[in-house]
Amino acid sequence: MKHNKLILLPALILILLFFSFTIRAEKTDSDLQKGLDSILPLDAYGYVKTMCLPRYAGRHTGHEGYTGAARWAAGKFKEWGLKPISGKVGYLQAYPSPYVVVDKAEMTLHLIERQRQPEAEPSFKEVPLKPLTDFMPMLFSDSGDHTAELVFAGWGICAPEIGYDDYARLDVRGKFILCFRGTPDRRDDRYQKHDHHRFRMKTAREKGALGLFYIYEEPLANPNGDWIEGFTPAIISEKTADMILEERGIKSTDLRNDLSTYKQPISFPLQSKIKFKVESRNFPGGVGYNVVGYVEGSDPKLKKECLVIGGHFDHCGEHMELLFSGANDNASGSAVVMEVAQAFAVLKKKPKRSVVFVLFGGEEMGLMGSTYFADHVPGQFEKLDAMFNFDMVGEGDGAGCSVSAEHEDLKKALEEADKHINILRRIGTIRGVGVRSSDYAPFFLKGAACVSFASNGPHLAYHLPGDSIYRINPDIMADIARVTLLTAHHWANR
Ligand SMILES: [Zn+2]
Repeated sequence: MKHNKLILLPALILILLFFSFTIRAEKTDSDLQKGLDSILPLDAYGYVKTMCLPRYAGRHTGHEGYTGAARWAAGKFKEWGLKPISGKVGYLQAYPSPYVVVDKAEMTLHLIERQRQPEAEPSFKEVPLKPLTDFMPMLFSDSGDHTAELVFAGWGICAPEIGYDDYARLDVRGKFILCFRGTPDRRDDRYQKHDHHRFRMKTAREKGALGLFYIYEEPLANPNGDWIEGFTPAIISEKTADMILEERGIKSTDLRNDLSTYKQPISFPLQSKIKFKVESRNFPGGVGYNVVGYVEGSDPKLKKECLVIGGHFDHCGEHMELLFSGANDNASGSAVVMEVAQAFAVLKKKPKRSVVFVLFGGEEMGLMGSTYFADHVPGQFEKLDAMFNFDMVGEGDGAGCSVSAEHEDLKKALEEADKHINILRRIGTIRGVGVRSSDYAPFFLKGAACVSFASNGPHLAYHLPGDSIYRINPDIMADIARVTLLTAHHWANR
């Protein structure tokens, strides 16, 4: 009997252990299920709708509309019981964010007319242009009123260190530059710094230009740049550019193709002129905010590592009586971050690592908020373990994501989670970051495992007033939030 008891006891312990494990596993599952159930399409939709309200004025970082919206989101974080950065700072991480509001802009072409007699004074045909359709000032333009000649300058790049100069033998003083955005060779990293709007504008100004006009297929809103005294930059449509280039018998698309094909500068002065008048207000003392709240990890050591779930909260603002409400870009990503945040708050058992939710300012101005956050991570966290980014996740019927190349295990976790949700149509790879990267870039550069989500679009109203609540599909936002909850929970708990 004694012998039997000795065998029975460990068996009993094993059986008990087994049950306690299954019960605990089930508990976690039902806990996670509760989190999943708390994610509702109409909640996400409601958040997008709020962010798009006229009183938030297109969430232009620095502007009171943005600040009001940030306070509203911080209130939600508090309501759900997320922890603030500190008792003193609360949920708002402040950083300097100069900004400009453009009140009015007028542009008129003065197209040179063919001379009947070569010695006659040149005559010009005036063609008034429509804002947004034909042209759009850059949303950091100074005020100004000039009528000046144009100079076509390829990609607007002066890079003597590589032996490339679109400005060679050009006199652009007191003139407007006309150029494309991009570089002679996309794969050549040495051009990267020259492709930043800021850099290109600064170069043009240093050469003495009054402004720089990009040729885009369609003009759009863009606040990504610095106010420069006396400098009035803009975007013009291909159609507008073609009217100007007609004096040379060239079409803008052909010019662009030639520049890409031959990788050699093509630059020339034009005889036609442009009158460009801008009325704008510059606010150099603007303050931007990241909205930050977190769920503390349950492991006393690992809680110092954090997984950041973030998306940009800002958009292009309100200018020239046009409201850029940015429903898809990126109220949708912000709403997903908020839905995942409230779901993590619902969980009884928190994962081992801390999960930090951040709504970034200034993405449209060039990743300002995310860069500031990555450089000023709140003191309670010692390591940026991972970053999940959401940019334009509200339009379409599915989503895709990209994962940093060296984190195959994160990709596996996503695939596993998506078996339960079925929203991801493709998973790509992030191999590096560049001028066009979203808010994951500063985290990627610090070695965090990164994933960035976007819906399948078609994103037709990108940076236009048409990017409104009417383009939003609530169901995909909820599904993206659900697949994120499952993946982030698994990752933070590993
Ligand atoms: Zn965006």
